[in-house]
Amino acid sequence: MIDTRAAGTTWSGNHRYRAPEVLLPADADELAEVVASADLLRVQATRHTFNDIADSEGTLVSLERMPTRIAIDGDRVRVEGLVTFAELAPVLEAEGRALHNLGSLPHISVTGATATGTHGSGVTNGNLSSALTAVEIVDADGTTHRIDHDDPRFPAAALSLGALGVITAVELRTEPTYAVTQQAYTGVAWDDIAADPIAVLGGARSVSIFTTWGDPAHDLVWAKSDTGTTGWVEELGGRPVGDDIHLGRIRTVDNTTPRGSSGPWHTRLPHFRADALPSDGDEIQSEYFVPLAHAAEALAAVRAVAPSFDAQLLVTELRTVAADELWLSPAYRRDVLAIHFTWRNDTDGVLSVLPHIEAALAPFDARPHWGKAYTMPGDRVRATLPRAQEFKDVVRQADPRGVFRNTYLRGVLGP
Ligand SMILES: Cc1cc2nc3c(=O)[nH]c(=O)nc-3n(C[C@H](O)[C@H](O)[C@H](O)COP(=O)(O)OP(=O)(O)OC[C@H]3O[C@@H](n4cnc5c(N)ncnc54)[C@H](O)[C@@H]3O)c2cc1C
Repeated sequence: MIDTRAAGTTWSGNHRYRAPEVLLPADADELAEVVASADLLRVQATRHTFNDIADSEGTLVSLERMPTRIAIDGDRVRVEGLVTFAELAPVLEAEGRALHNLGSLPHISVTGATATGTHGSGVTNGNLSSALTAVEIVDADGTTHRIDHDDPRFPAAALSLGALGVITAVELRTEPTYAVTQQAYTGVAWDDIAADPIAVLGGARSVSIFTTWGDPAHDLVWAKSDTGTTGWVEELGGRPVGDDIHLGRIRTVDNTTPRGSSGPWHTRLPHFRADALPSDGDEIQSEYFVPLAHAAEALAAVRAVAPSFDAQLLVTELRTVAADELWLSPAYRRDVLAIHFTWRNDTDGVLSVLPHIEAALAPFDARPHWGKAYTMPGDRVRATLPRAQEFKDVVRQADPRGVFRNTYLRGVLGP
């Protein structure tokens, strides 16, 4: 008898899973049995999504009772089971290895983050999916397939939205460990940012800009440097905030990583510490990706509609993601500016303001973050994805019964 638990809600509570319970297989045999006997199945991982991407009209399964394993081999690491970046990073660091980047928080699962194109910042840093070199997937018959970089299905499998099957292990590229020093600065004028966003966002290994689109007191440049050089922010008028950090209208709590001192990559690249509640905690998030080449025009377009969403906004974060070759990636063959919104936790209010932003960004071929709230209809999202048909062909081949489909995927992939 396979254990179960209640499905509950997403991390922010903005979506209650329709599936009543989650099956908890304890080993590979039980997982294969669950998958092979399901008509409809999705995986619930660490639940840090803001929509119904992980939900199922049939069965939900979690790998949380399955064994986890982290095996480092040269410049690769194989990660098996439900492992978070908070668990993975110190193991890599102990062996002198590192990932090229991390998202704003380490609490999320490696499989869920890579399945949705989760990213940090940096003009030369691809998203976390782009670090994958192989994916191991259990298909609808319960058979495991290893799809590596040379497999023609890899550009679908490395950012799959969970559509190809249950990912039981992933392999990621690592690099020698490195140290990062970070600091957050006030005083950089929005006009300087808007005039040349790439100059600011490209100033260090990873740079984020926080803004509320109007109040200069809320504008912050948060730079993470692997060379220790941050003179460029000071030349733009930036003054270090030290411990007194405020991210827009997010409640100020002691949850951020140390600034002003050097530390291993995984202790500085995320904004939020693994031992604390990240961000505000009571929020919804949205994010749109536009070509970096159009960053200045896209920022002007959003700023023009900012009064329409101001009442819902806690803070915007601007980041960059380097181009990759993954078919569903928001950065597929284009370097992008990521325009992120942390909203008050008011679903109706948020859904009512998103169309203004989506209309403003439509001329820039904006793609939404797969794991965050958006209102663009599926056919409009699909129209921004030049390789959507190839992705659908791989899905049809991998999952002819449509077991891993759900409402979300039917919207995005169409009939
Ligand atoms: C506070 C906060 C901060 C965030 N910061 C960032 C950020 O800096 N950058 C960014 O890009 N995003 C960010 N996000 C969004 C988050 O990284 C993504 O939504 C990510 O997908 C969450 O992964 P998860 O495992 O927690 O989610 P889940 O909802 O559990 O899973 C995500 C998707 O992956 C699928 N999946 C997971 N595991 C498997 C598996 N083993 N096999 C098959 N499918 C699987 C699920 O079915 C689902 O479709 C943030 C979210 C929060 C709540």
